Amino acid sequence: MISQKNQYDVCVVGGGLTGLAAAVFLADAGLAVALIAPPRNGSDHRTTALLAHSVEALSKIGIWSHIEKDSFPLKSMRIVDATNRLLRSPQTDFHSTEIGLEAFGYNVRNVVLYKTFEQHILNDSNIDHFACPAKSVRLDDTGGIEVKLVAEGRKKSKTVHARFIVGADGRSSMVRDSWNIGERKWSYPQSAVVFNFEHEFSSNYTSTEFHTETGPFTIVPNTNHMAGLVWVETPERAQEIASLSKRDLALLAENKMQSFLGKLKIVSPVQCFPLSGMIAGRFGDKNCALVGEAAHVFPPIGAQGFNLGIRDIECVADILGCQKDFASAGEIYHRQRVSDVTARTTGVDLLNRTLLSNFLPMQLLRSSGLYALGHVPALRRYAMRVGISGVAVQ
Ligand SMILES: Cc1cc2nc3c(=O)[nH]c(=O)nc-3n(C[C@H](O)[C@H](O)[C@H](O)COP(=O)(O)OP(=O)(O)OC[C@H]3O[C@@H](n4cnc5c(N)ncnc54)[C@H](O)[C@@H]3O)c2cc1C
Repeated sequence: MISQKNQYDVCVVGGGLTGLAAAVFLADAGLAVALIAPPRNGSDHRTTALLAHSVEALSKIGIWSHIEKDSFPLKSMRIVDATNRLLRSPQTDFHSTEIGLEAFGYNVRNVVLYKTFEQHILNDSNIDHFACPAKSVRLDDTGGIEVKLVAEGRKKSKTVHARFIVGADGRSSMVRDSWNIGERKWSYPQSAVVFNFEHEFSSNYTSTEFHTETGPFTIVPNTNHMAGLVWVETPERAQEIASLSKRDLALLAENKMQSFLGKLKIVSPVQCFPLSGMIAGRFGDKNCALVGEAAHVFPPIGAQGFNLGIRDIECVADILGCQKDFASAGEIYHRQRVSDVTARTTGVDLLNRTLLSNFLPMQLLRSSGLYALGHVPALRRYAMRVGISGVAVQ
């Protein structure tokens, strides 16, 4: 057991996937890290599609080899226009071999990701884990960071000092508020019903996204006979669906996916997530950086959320790993992240809104976009590469 000090290079606040990953990447860059992460409550039954760039990043720090055996390759992606709109697009299929890859990415159960990061953190002498929430964060008189922790039980509250702070504390980030970084928030008239199911016919390594008038209905395989479903509906309909018996829900889902996977059996609890969006006014300032959902929140379309969070973390670890003076590192981080984060947030928002809109020009935009992706090889390859990486690749 390592002894906890109170002066660190970096303090990471938040114990979601982004916070845990941030601690590991920063420690790998040779920094002394304090991780302020209260214990998780409840189980996360979701899966996360890690795209090729994230897999590469996790491989570089020696984490992927522990996850790989529990992951499933996503070799093809199919988009089916299941709207009843006047303008509909043809089915579009993408294959990773078209861009010379074995797979676009790998689907992993969130519980596997949590366990792998937690085990690594326990064994990493560069990371001290404080298992309680942070109460306040401020710049001290020397320009360093002072983080006060919530007292555990009858113990006195503790204070941690660091040269830099990483806010990974989710959409209602206390770090963001403490730094007076504003945000723009919006909601969608949608909720996602999420569960895992077994199915009769093989998915053949293919993830399928049905576009419907209420949002995407996305099936991401965990094995060739098991998959995760993210079913976006109006909030009222989502509640109705989530309260069905598993048997009735399986029949409804089978019907919705036109039985292309045969009979279904639900094998996890059914969870419901209201959809919303948020973008921070800045992603970094002085000696602070915001990562993951503390910086950006958008609907679960195209497996972008955590993958974008990994790119945030890589960027902050690269900057701090080679920068002596941390006082302006937040500003550098902001400049390096602003185009990727803004483009992803806007792109996902636009795609979601074109699905919901009855406005004919919006439908034309979506269907012609999908048609072009289906028929122009150079555009297909470009879109596939941009989709799986953080930058536009030639
Ligand atoms: C249905 C669904 C499916 C998804 N699928 C994918 C996918 O396939 N691929 C993908 O890339 N992304 C996916 N995402 C997005 C992904 O899940 C999120 O981007 C990711 O989980 C965000 O993690 P986070 O750590 O930034 O935030 P959170 O998970 O919200 O974690 C924030 C953490 O901070 C802690 N915290 C808050 N305040 C404090 C404090 N004061 N002190 C200490 N700790 C604090 C909280 O307890 C929490 O643990 C999906 C999302 C949904 C809803």
